[in-house]
Amino acid sequence: MNSSRPIPINLPSERAQDHSPPLSARELARLKARLRSAAGKAIADYKMIEAGDRVMVCVSGGKDSYTLLDLLMSLEKRAPVDFELVAVNLDQKQPGFPAGVLPAYLEQLRVQYRVVTEDTYSVVKRVIPQGKTMCGLCSRLRRGILYRVATELGATKIALGHHREDIVETLFLNLFHGARLKTMPPKLRSDDGRHIVIRPLAYCAERDIARYARGRAFPIIPCRLCGSQEHAQRREIKAMLAEWEREDPGRTVRLFRSLQNVSPSHLADTKLFDFRGLTATRDDESA
Ligand code: SF4
Repeated sequence: MNSSRPIPINLPSERAQDHSPPLSARELARLKARLRSAAGKAIADYKMIEAGDRVMVCVSGGKDSYTLLDLLMSLEKRAPVDFELVAVNLDQKQPGFPAGVLPAYLEQLRVQYRVVTEDTYSVVKRVIPQGKTMCGLCSRLRRGILYRVATELGATKIALGHHREDIVETLFLNLFHGARLKTMPPKLRSDDGRHIVIRPLAYCAERDIARYARGRAFPIIPCRLCGSQEHAQRREIKAMLAEWEREDPGRTVRLFRSLQNVSPSHLADTKLFDFRGLTATRDDESA
């Protein structure tokens, strides 16, 4: 079903996050095996995919979503349960969006796919004052459209390409700017309860994904065609985490693991733990 040949389309590559030398075929295969194993583990740990699922894979044309689709197609062939994939791309009508690139790529893969065209770009441009970041509204509009398309397609899961660093960055964004201890979880039920969103790359390192995407020569579509600047707060957090990682390698992994090892009784949220009802055990109770 899947062709592993690179797609012969030349586009400017996504902002480089990978400065390492080119991978040999063997190194690329090993990297793919590592990423697939990490994705498989996340899928199993959170029971992201079950028999009979129809998984809508959101493909934006960035390195993360290409890698997500590639790994899910590989897992589909090996998984002990049957599930099906349908790739969805949302063309938001950003100026210069190369509309033919993803259909050509997806045709070549012989994966089921649908391209949805909705001009959210004009809406966002109209509503957001010049110079302000457009990403908040743009993401909300996109999410609403993707939920609607998932219903139309009968998809039981919606797969997104967020990876470990996205999850840790979002944790700090919420901590620093929202006074909330929360992030994007590996599996989420939508607010209306009708959709399950999964993030199979939750255990995958961004650096590995960037190396893999480069090795596979995915036809990357630049992510800032809309002209919006990346949110300054996210930029700062990315830089902070990168600096920490340089000083103390492995810190990002430990931060991520801390999200899987939470002690509500050692935080301070009275909704999560009954601090008011906490009393010492009497001698006669402990006997
Ligand atoms: S970078 Fe552009 S397309 Fe991406 S979320 Fe922000 S406004 Fe939307």
